[in-house]
Amino acid sequence: MVNNKSKNKRFETLAIHGGVVPEDGTHSVTTPIYPSSTYRVAYPGDESGYVYSRWSNPTRLALEKALAALENGNYAYAFSSGLAALDAIIKLLKPGDHVVVVDDIYGGSMRQFEQSARNFGIEFSYVDGRNPDNFKNAIQEHTKLFWIETPTNPLLHLVDIAALAHIAEPHDILVGVDNTFATPFIQRPLELGADIVLHSASKYLGGHCDVIAGALVVRDEQLAERIRFNQYAIGGMLGPFESWLVLRGMKTLSLRMERHAANAARIAEYLKTVDMVETVYFPGIDGKPLPNGMTLPGGMVSFTLKADFESVRQFVMATDIFILAESLGGVESLINHPASMTHASIPKDVREQHGISDGLIRLSVGIEHIDDLLADLAFAFQTLRKAVSSTKQ
Ligand SMILES: *Cc1c(COP(=O)(O)O)cnc(C)c1O
Repeated sequence: MVNNKSKNKRFETLAIHGGVVPEDGTHSVTTPIYPSSTYRVAYPGDESGYVYSRWSNPTRLALEKALAALENGNYAYAFSSGLAALDAIIKLLKPGDHVVVVDDIYGGSMRQFEQSARNFGIEFSYVDGRNPDNFKNAIQEHTKLFWIETPTNPLLHLVDIAALAHIAEPHDILVGVDNTFATPFIQRPLELGADIVLHSASKYLGGHCDVIAGALVVRDEQLAERIRFNQYAIGGMLGPFESWLVLRGMKTLSLRMERHAANAARIAEYLKTVDMVETVYFPGIDGKPLPNGMTLPGGMVSFTLKADFESVRQFVMATDIFILAESLGGVESLINHPASMTHASIPKDVREQHGISDGLIRLSVGIEHIDDLLADLAFAFQTLRKAVSSTKQ
């Protein structure tokens, strides 16, 4: 439980002080890393303090308190990856249960649903999340969970979280939001009626591309108990070193997100002026209002190129500052070709049905100087022009 004192503080302050430093006599300003796997107890069966680190660890606990504070939840659990956190949600379900999922979803989440969870009798339907009624129409007798991302990946569509919570409520359906792309600095799904927030903390929360980690945040005590049981019983919890890295990263989340979003907005504007660009995907582009109380559009920009497959591949290899790499959310800018990278595990026809064409490129815009980023892209467009004109000859 987050203590009441933290409830009154603002986001930027909570990001720095939300992770409570355990008082161990050293008066340390930052949270120590406690690698101990086990703890001395006072008598056989004593469970009043720490017992074993799979159950609880002081460094992980500090991170979990900070996560709960930032998402305005009551309970948080840190996992060894975003997908380990997702698995702990799937294991709340039983054979025959049904989940409605937003169709434009992280490839690894879809792989877990289709190639792992389905083997245990869990059913999944995928719908376009831009219209909440699609979720309503997909409800079946055993539907137990709505699972969404917003903005979605990689097309950055927005889903109306409050509308979904409204639809789910009378059916006792849980609403889970993967808040990896927006982060709690930009949008807090629990405040809008969602039941579960998931993070791949490997992305913006960690923020420096130096850790793999995941998290779940909830408000309801019973739901929290069930998730805590899964964390302990299945064992996907986060280690103390990784917990410390995420905790440190989160302290600068507000500063980083402001810069990510400012740079991304400039790049989206620039891309709209380039003749070789077909469509630019960016939340709030052309003055569209942001839903969900979103305060910023975030740091991701996607766009399609008017070019053949090989030329598109030349383009993503031509940047210098934008590193050709999977993942997102670090201080460094990354460029990704979903069709051959993050979404390659999705069959081509399914991918194209969902708008993930061979010409689609996704940028994770970092916090470098905007002029250097724009120059880097301009250079890559020069390369693309040459590549396209040579294939035409
Ligand atoms: C990366 C990612 C995940 C998976 O997280 P890992 O930490 O890589 O296991 C889940 N959802 C989204 C939106 C992601 O970007």
